[in-house]
Amino acid sequence: MSMARKSYAGNTPFHSLLPLPMVASMSYQSVDPSTGKVLKHFKEITDRQLETSLKTAAACFETWRQKTYAQRAVVVAKAAALMHERVDEFARPVTLEMGKLIAQAKGEVVLSADIIAYYAKNAEHFLAPQSLQPASGEAEVQSSPFGVLFGVEPWNFPYYQLARFAAPNLMAGNVVMVKHAGCVPQCALAFEKLWLDAGAPVGAYTNLFISYEQVNRVIDDPRIKGVALTGSVEAGKIVAGRAGQNLKKSTMELGGSDAFIVLEDADLEKTVQWAVWGKMNNTGQCCVAAKRFIVVEELADQFLEKFQKALAALKPGDPMDPATTLGPLSTEAALVTLLDQVKRAVAKGATLVMGGQRVARPGSFMQPTILSNIKPGNPAFREEFFGPVALFFRVKNEDEAVALANDSEFGLGGSVFTKDIARGKRVASRVDTGMMFINHPTWTSPDLPFGGIKNSGYGRELSSLGIQEFVNKKLVRVAAIDAAA
Ligand code: NAP
Repeated sequence: MSMARKSYAGNTPFHSLLPLPMVASMSYQSVDPSTGKVLKHFKEITDRQLETSLKTAAACFETWRQKTYAQRAVVVAKAAALMHERVDEFARPVTLEMGKLIAQAKGEVVLSADIIAYYAKNAEHFLAPQSLQPASGEAEVQSSPFGVLFGVEPWNFPYYQLARFAAPNLMAGNVVMVKHAGCVPQCALAFEKLWLDAGAPVGAYTNLFISYEQVNRVIDDPRIKGVALTGSVEAGKIVAGRAGQNLKKSTMELGGSDAFIVLEDADLEKTVQWAVWGKMNNTGQCCVAAKRFIVVEELADQFLEKFQKALAALKPGDPMDPATTLGPLSTEAALVTLLDQVKRAVAKGATLVMGGQRVARPGSFMQPTILSNIKPGNPAFREEFFGPVALFFRVKNEDEAVALANDSEFGLGGSVFTKDIARGKRVASRVDTGMMFINHPTWTSPDLPFGGIKNSGYGRELSSLGIQEFVNKKLVRVAAIDAAA
């Protein structure tokens, strides 16, 4: 990947329906994707400002680490409470900047606040010293913070992703610096302000509007002790590679192409409802969206017909309007990429069952789309489609479904639909991913671990596992014998 940054408005030809001015490439820029209107842009910070931020964060760590869990929990619980109080205020920029339907944006704010509250409450317990039972003597494992951590985060859940990284690590005694995605700068600033409003010391949470070159510089900086990225495989390879050159621990939450397996004994009505939710939540822009629909032949025709009908009923419109059920994609660039992916898939032999075009209205809207007949030689067979595009596969039986689900470089999540829960668990254990769901396509809550394997990354966020990633697990042993013995 070149060092050139993505531009969120100016680098793709806008559709003639869009009454838009052409906009110069801007790294941190709010553009309303439902209209194409540029709302605001922000300058990247200078190297000198970056140095000041790093110095402040490092100094802050020295005092923050000395606080008790109870003292840190006062600040973290306050941040959760403020977010719970200000749901509408936080939700608005999400919808404005990346087009999430307003009800879903509010849901994300509540979930993010819940995650923050969860770690305020449970961190001390999760990180309590663990006593060991060694063959001789007495020993325990203590947990202590690494120091200043650096996160690179994506736009698709502009607060949830930040909460997953910031809340456990702040409670563990680390401090965090974050480079958020360029298209959600107002969300980035709102989340930074949240911590200051909650009484966190300056430097505990720092938002960085920085270039890719500066990202590298931050990773190389000796004051940075760990790196987390959520985003694409390409960015993951670059950032993980840089962290590796510096022998710094990293966690990677990357893309996915989750299988949605429908067995012959599934409840078809409920399964189709979940299929629509699994595909269309956040307009399909979820790492754990259902992306490959793998249906055994007994149900395949009926499933496809009902799924198509339900998708066709979605209503595009202003994402601020609660009546809208189909929002825009996050950016014009994202739409153009997806349209091109669909075009290439069809050129290589896939069948376009429905959709495949932009919606005839202003803004970056895409028709819900289903592709079938996707053979292994087709690039679509291996790619992640990040938006409202479903890949449909017909298989003979459970074994073929599992083999197809596993024929992927990704290993994030997946699901299986069957009335027989024991069978569902058996199938779940055969699919090589970090998460499997039975009779629902995906789920997340503060107390469930989240993460993948293969090209979907490594490490876990959320639950008791997520807080262990950037803490030193230190052995402390008490002598049982004398040296002279
Ligand atoms: P992306 O392009 O990788 O961007 C993610 C973040 O990485 C952004 O902050 C981006 O900055 C930054 N970035 C990209 N290239 C970089 C580079 N060379 N050097 C430094 N920073 C770089 O991903 P996206 O397309 O925005 O997000 C969608 C991807 O994220 C999908 O693949 C999705 O599956 C994945 N995702 C995974 C999870 C998970 O938990 N596993 C959750 C959500 C999303 P700019 O915005 O400034 O380019």
